[in-house]
Parts: sequence; structure tokens; C-alpha cells
Amino acid sequence: MNSQQLIDAEKKYLAQTYARPPFVLTRGEGVYVFDAEGKKYLDCAAGIAVNALGYNDPELARAIQNAANGLLHTSNLFYTEPQVALAHALVDRSFADKVFFANTGTEAMEGAMKFARKYHRERGDMNRTGFVAFRGSFHGRTMGSLAATDSEKYQTPFRPLMPGVTFANFNDLDAARAAITHETAAVILEPVQGEGGVYPATDAFLRGLRELCNERGALLIFDEIQCGMGRTGKLWAHEHAGVTPDLMTLAKPLAGGLPIGALLMTQAVASAIHVGEHGTTFGGGPMITSVALSVFNRISDPKFLAHVTETGNYLMERLSEINSPHIKEVRGRGLMVGVELDLDAGKVTEKGYARGLLLIKARERVVRLVPPLILQKSHVDELIDKLGKILAEL
Ligand code: PLP
Repeated sequence: MNSQQLIDAEKKYLAQTYARPPFVLTRGEGVYVFDAEGKKYLDCAAGIAVNALGYNDPELARAIQNAANGLLHTSNLFYTEPQVALAHALVDRSFADKVFFANTGTEAMEGAMKFARKYHRERGDMNRTGFVAFRGSFHGRTMGSLAATDSEKYQTPFRPLMPGVTFANFNDLDAARAAITHETAAVILEPVQGEGGVYPATDAFLRGLRELCNERGALLIFDEIQCGMGRTGKLWAHEHAGVTPDLMTLAKPLAGGLPIGALLMTQAVASAIHVGEHGTTFGGGPMITSVALSVFNRISDPKFLAHVTETGNYLMERLSEINSPHIKEVRGRGLMVGVELDLDAGKVTEKGYARGLLLIKARERVVRLVPPLILQKSHVDELIDKLGKILAEL
């Protein structure tokens, strides 16, 4: 089957939920992917902030092979060792005391919302069922996580969604103060908003939210599905602000490109959940958690994190050298950077394909740079060269 035949077959056999560019990716190497015609692309999308270790990583391949030779699946009805080992590692390196494993980010978010409600119910506070989320948020596509996602386009076709979510302006502590009531189960936010346009929360905002939640008895949920696991140069994005949440969700890079989700929580939250109250068939299976432990051990290495900080700083510095009237703002942290333009960012991603550059957008006007975390300075130079030429053409 050639590329055109495959594209035609995709249109025939797959539900059309994505607008894909007209080439077929077949393999990857480091920070590059190749299409069926052999064309090479510098990948600054990383499967939407997933492929932290890039492509064809030999250690990751070995971890997958080893895991494949062991138990694949037993269900959560039985004890298995890799799940416990990964949970132990996550707890050792975070605020959390306990972990619940899921399969995707949205499933981890759904769990976070359920656990938050249960926490209050366990205390006899039956009215605390609401959530405060923020403008520009993205938390997933299931009915609960979608209700906390600030997008008319994503929400409208599927209403009614889960009721009880109030939205406040991001980075606006007064708005949050007005929104958090005695009916708020939890405040939910991304320490760096991803889909919404790459907006980092200010340290003062995160600290203020922590204080407000303490004061008013609401839980604080950090969605680090996109910004966590080293992406900002620290293991957890909230470390920059020096505050911790009550619950934190993870997914995307945790198993290096295989599907996993995780919900980390304090003992106080974990104590409210009892046997049989929540579950999943596949979540935290031995194969996936064994691979994820190998990925986690590498990403959480301080040398790896220092590399992300250094490359991220270099990226920021080089972006500031692009002299284009189309650039309105560059913002982000580590290797999570948004370039806000005065035009449709889709025009840039399209021209990127022609020049051998994979880019993605965040909302209409932001080019979102979330490359593999193994990106080197020479790759940054290549990106800047290509991006500069694209902007000059527009
Ligand atoms: N939360 C954030 C911050 C995300 O970026 C995403 C995915 O883009 C999700 C939740 C949903 O994760 P998933 O697509 O794995 O369900």
C-alpha cells in the first residue's frame, strides 16, 4: 500500500476525528521521524509531549522486551511486582503517599474528581461535589474531565456534561477566591497550561491557591499530564513554586510512548477510598508499569533534568533572536514553550511539514514546542533556522 492508498483507507475505515497531514510516518530515530517516502522531520511534537526519550531508544526497547517476556496482564485482582515498584518510586520522589494507576490522562483525571468527592463524603460533607477549574484548561474528553475543560467546541456537542464545574480566570487569585465555596470539592489546574496556549501559572498563583484551599477546606488537584515528568526541567512542574497538591495526575511520557495514567495522592485522600469503590481492568498492569519504572528512573535522574533546563534555556534564548513581526510572545518553562503569533499557527505547522519539521498548535495562534526531552542544542539550532525561514515567508 502506498501513502495515498493508506490515506484513502484511513478516510474509509476510521472515524474522522482528526485532520492529519498527507504523509505516513513509518519510523523514528532519536528526535527525528521519517515518512514512507523517507523524508526526515525534526520532531518538536513528540506525540503530543509523550516521547520524552525520543524514538528507537535502545534502553527503552530492552525494557519493553524484558516486560514482554514477563506477565502481560493479570488484572488488578492480583498482586504483581512491577506495579508496586513503580508506585514506590513515584511516592519516593513526590509529595504523594499512594498511587492509583489508570490507562490515560483523562482516566486519571476522572479518578481524581471521584476521589476528591469521596474525600469530602467520607467526612460527612455531602454538599462538597463541585469543582473550580480555569479558563484555558484542558483535562480530557470524558464527561467529567471534559466538564472541567474550558472549550465550547469540545463540550457543546456532548452536553449535558457533569454539572458543578465553575471556571475562573487563570492566574487570577481574586477570581479563584470568589469561585471557591463551601461546595467546592477541589480546585483543578495545570501548573503549565498546555492545550490552552502554553501558559505557566505564576508561583504566586499556585501558592495562593494552596492557601485558599487550606483555608476553605477544598482539595487541590494538579494536572501534570503534560507539564510533569521533567518537561519543565524539574520532575514536577509545581516544584518551581514550592507548593504541593493533594492529588496529581500523570500520563503522557510516563511509559515512554505506551499508554499509562497515574493518580498520586496524599494519605488523607487515599484513606477515603475503600475496596471496590473504584477500579480499572488494565490500569497499572505488570508490562506497562515495568516499562514505566525504567522510563521514570531515567527521567528523574538530576542530570537528565539539568539537561532539560539547559536545553530549554537555550531554546528560549534562540527564539528571542528570531526577528519576526509575527511573534507576539514566547512563554513557557523548560522544553514546554509556546510561540504566540499574530496569525493562524496552522499555517506554520503546514509549512513546517514541507521543511521537515513536526510542529503542533495550541489553540489558534500558538505554536507549541514540546520536543523529546533528549533534544540537543544542535537540534534547537535546526528548529530556529527552519522556524525563522517559515515566519519570514508568511
Ligand atoms: N490533561 C492534560 C493537561 C492534557 O494535556 C491531556 C492530553 O492532552 C489530558 C489531560 C488528557 O490525557 P489523555 O489524552 O491521555 O486522555
